[in-house]
Amino acid sequence: MDRYEQVIELAKRRGFLWNSFELYGGTAGFYDYGPLGSTLKRRIEQIWRDLYVIHEGYMEIETPTVGIEDVFVASGHVGGFSDPLCECTKCGEAFRADHLVSHILEGADALSNLELDRLIREHMVKCPECKGDLGEAYEFNLMFKTLIGPGTGRQGYMRPETAQGMFVDFLRLARFYREKLPFGATQIGKSYRNEISPRQGVIRLREFTQAEAEIFIDPVDKSHPNIKRFADTELNLYSDAAQERGSMDKMTLGQALEQGIIAHEFLAYQIGLTNLFLTRVGIASDRLRFRQHKKDEMAHYAMDCWDAEVGTDRFGWVEIVGIADRTNYDLSAHAAVSKTELTIYREYPEPKMVTRFVVKPDMGKLGPLFKGKAKMVAEALKALTREELEKEEIKVRVDAEEIIIPKDVVEFAEETVKVSGENIVPHVVEPSFGIDRIFYAVMEHSFDEEAVSSAEEGEEGEENRIVMRFRNEVAPVQVAILPLLTREELIGPAKDIESRLRERGLLVSYDDSGTIGRRYRRNDEIGTPYCVTIDYDTLKDMTVTIRERDGMKQVRTPVEGIEEVLYGLMYRGREFQSAGRAL
Ligand code: AMP
Repeated sequence: MDRYEQVIELAKRRGFLWNSFELYGGTAGFYDYGPLGSTLKRRIEQIWRDLYVIHEGYMEIETPTVGIEDVFVASGHVGGFSDPLCECTKCGEAFRADHLVSHILEGADALSNLELDRLIREHMVKCPECKGDLGEAYEFNLMFKTLIGPGTGRQGYMRPETAQGMFVDFLRLARFYREKLPFGATQIGKSYRNEISPRQGVIRLREFTQAEAEIFIDPVDKSHPNIKRFADTELNLYSDAAQERGSMDKMTLGQALEQGIIAHEFLAYQIGLTNLFLTRVGIASDRLRFRQHKKDEMAHYAMDCWDAEVGTDRFGWVEIVGIADRTNYDLSAHAAVSKTELTIYREYPEPKMVTRFVVKPDMGKLGPLFKGKAKMVAEALKALTREELEKEEIKVRVDAEEIIIPKDVVEFAEETVKVSGENIVPHVVEPSFGIDRIFYAVMEHSFDEEAVSSAEEGEEGEENRIVMRFRNEVAPVQVAILPLLTREELIGPAKDIESRLRERGLLVSYDDSGTIGRRYRRNDEIGTPYCVTIDYDTLKDMTVTIRERDGMKQVRTPVEGIEEVLYGLMYRGREFQSAGRAL
């Protein structure tokens, strides 16, 4: 069993992840989160909210998961959100064509369908399932289609990312934030991609959760007022140049900015924040790197992109977050399709005197002359240059017809006016988090197996224990209450402690089945940081044993005030030794 298999096996057995629709045989690309998985996922999302919504002030919005066609025409998803599909001519199984040749050529995902076909033929690649011949590769759009309304309905799509909701609401958001850049909005929600052949478990899903922020910034000022916060943060940076030379750099964000490796402060700040979030939820720093998109890999409109990637046992480096400066691409695209100006008024620090060439058609004269076309003629005149207007004959084209315009219907001159600001299209910095992949990475990075002598915990001899070393802030169960025996006199105080801890807001489980050693192991496997054991001494002196997960140390502590002790351990960084008398 590799680590992936071990993690998924544990996840299924302990109620973190289950195959969706298992009762009916299941379908690839969908997972259910069981009770512990749901709790862990929510806690990860809550930390994201804490950082992005509460601390950064990028407020959360909620927009539909079904979108209308115009939105995805503008975003480019209708036209270009596809992967190359290749079907087996014998068994009909579908595959990603670039995945079929990835062992032959690195970077196969950048090849055209023709190039993919050529590689498949040259290397005689066959169907991985039945060894049959493969058909030609063609583009398969990854959006799930649906119909809005009855009858023929209106074409709708399940959103492939949450981002478009924020772009479509741009004008409302701008007003909400009183038209002051920078401002941002966030969404945590489901996205859908009809992935061709998802064979990588939770890494490639057809329905998954994204947490995205769209931050609108000034195109000419990409500084960040708080950049000092992360200037000394040291990271594994795998820049474009580092990839060329094939070795990763370890450097601070301050150094990366100084050396011009990261395009600007605002982006560097987002990388710092992403690192803070990922390490806070339990990603191991030494298995985390930030990889820059290479010039030929980056979307043509983007200015600089970095992916946070985690090291995994089975899949190697996996992208879990994308952080990009998308310039004004999205807003301009929606402005063009919706025919609505998506700009924000930005005042100059000082008003400017601007000289400009102004053309003034005389509508009083144009009207009778051109009737219904007068307005179009006026617009065409406004677009002429001084040279064209000074020619002997003024000509304009309207509806493919050339019209000669009398000289006396138009005036033009240079005017100097005071201008105090302008309408600009903001640029967008977008951190986009894939919560399910982060969830999996947290599981894999927390997974540990060690040989222990279990005599002191009531079991015989040496054994392997599996421990999920979840950080306190994400652990789905924080304290397990374990009465030593299922006897009336022990159940009473155990239930009492349970309700006190629940009252204090701690996540508690009550477990009285099996030997105490078995129960400790069970809690190690689900990453419970602390277990409280109630035994016969409790009845004598009203003390209990608290046992910590990582070092399996134990202390004896009074029942009175135990909720504060555990709360302190959980949230206030209280030292375990100070929690009671060492045993
Ligand atoms: P993208 O819009 O493709 O850059 O995706 C943003 C983030 O969403 C990625 O960094 C992934 O973490 C996550 N993601 C994308 N596609 C999938 C998928 N099919 N299954 C799970 N997570 C995904």
